[in-house]
Amino acid sequence: METQKISYKDISYNKTKIIGTIGPVSSSKDMLRKMIAAGLDVVRINFSHGTHEQHLEVANNVKELNKELQRSISILGDLQGPKLRIGKVAEGTVLEDNSELIVTTEECIGNASKIYVNYPELPTDIHIGDSVLIDDGNIHITVTEKIDKKSFKTVVKYGGKLSSNKGFNLPNTDISLPSLTEKDIIDLEFAVANNFDWIGLSFVRSGEDVSDLKQRIAKLNGTGRVIAKIEKPQAITHIKSIVKQSDAIMVARGDLGVEMPLEQVPMLQKKIVDRCLNFSKPVIIATQMMESMISSPRPTRAEASDVANAVMDGADAVMLSAESSVGKYPIEAVQAVQRIVKSTEDGWDIYFKGKKPSKSSPTFLSDQICYSAVQISEQISAKAIISLTQSGYTAFKIASYRPKCDVFIFTSNKYIFRLLNLVWNVRVFYYDKMESTDQTVKDVLDILKSHDMVKVGDLVVHTASMPIMSKSRTNALKISRVD
Ligand code: PEP
Repeated sequence: METQKISYKDISYNKTKIIGTIGPVSSSKDMLRKMIAAGLDVVRINFSHGTHEQHLEVANNVKELNKELQRSISILGDLQGPKLRIGKVAEGTVLEDNSELIVTTEECIGNASKIYVNYPELPTDIHIGDSVLIDDGNIHITVTEKIDKKSFKTVVKYGGKLSSNKGFNLPNTDISLPSLTEKDIIDLEFAVANNFDWIGLSFVRSGEDVSDLKQRIAKLNGTGRVIAKIEKPQAITHIKSIVKQSDAIMVARGDLGVEMPLEQVPMLQKKIVDRCLNFSKPVIIATQMMESMISSPRPTRAEASDVANAVMDGADAVMLSAESSVGKYPIEAVQAVQRIVKSTEDGWDIYFKGKKPSKSSPTFLSDQICYSAVQISEQISAKAIISLTQSGYTAFKIASYRPKCDVFIFTSNKYIFRLLNLVWNVRVFYYDKMESTDQTVKDVLDILKSHDMVKVGDLVVHTASMPIMSKSRTNALKISRVD
């Protein structure tokens, strides 16, 4: 991975970051360039769709644009996980209410009377009376009779149009699939080989699912960090250990709203965001944020409120899925999110949450420096907090206190450069001269002045590790006035 020189000139940026899923309508370099100009911070490659060849083209386009535009757009590779899906179905298939539908694990092209599902144990795992939700809950069927080891009968409760590869969720059934499928392992190797910054883990059920993935990444000598997607009731039960083990969390409302009662999703969103802020873990709100923009150039008022609410909750990032991957208006969708985020950040106090660091934490001393830096920045109306970090820890920590001022992170670690672009309010700069603290303070201010990020007379708060060349944990705090 090459070190990137970043320029923030000519960018009006928000604190809450925007993630866009890339698909057929947005994978070209030209479209990606336009989406980045509209405010995109993170590119999501969804391994549920497309080929490695297509994903590689997107990743290479992003890396080239990062160089060309002097940006640090992050790359997130989202593993499909043990998601059950129906197979291919004939064009124009419609399931009628109250009709009989056979579900089989023998591969076939589905139609209105029979569909294929990619999980051989399914007829063993299900029970008569179990509900099945297809296509994010748009279609609801109920199991009526087991036929044999490969198939069972269902009745269609709520029918509708059915197309190929739609999700097949069993909210009340325990499925005994491993957390990573064979496909996930191959996709993970691809993501690591291509230096993806973030790896999304779908259908997480426990903290061990996350630590298992981390071990696999380490064995592959990868540096990607893990985002646990919260979309199953078991993940809600084990949320404490999942947040602890993960590097970031995604509230994956698409499957969460199918696997759990829909009416619980808004409260779960708020509780998960709160927990993540308290544990300094970035949190993403995903799915259906601008859903109507798949086919319309303007979002609904309810969608505008949904994005604004995610910002007010304190999310690090909001995510577009079909809107930016297969929709008619991918650029307009990013622009709309950008405007809603900006307007909300301007009008709502989401800042400095004030939870004190815990004395029993092994990182208490550096946590206290980060906490104090944010507190002081509020008291002196600082223009920015400027921090040096090697591991990225200080950036995550400071961001989690949600400072009102800018957060500028300087690092010589090339692996956290793009990574941190997902984190609330964080902007990263490369800096590898570690001569003395005085010299570093002068250098970082000169760099920021050259980017018009600070100006003469501004007050700023610095954090660092002293002596500067030791590159250990953050232990120093300094206020300076830019001259
Ligand atoms: C979701 O379910 O909300 C989600 C983001 O996951 P996916 O897009 O992989 O279904």
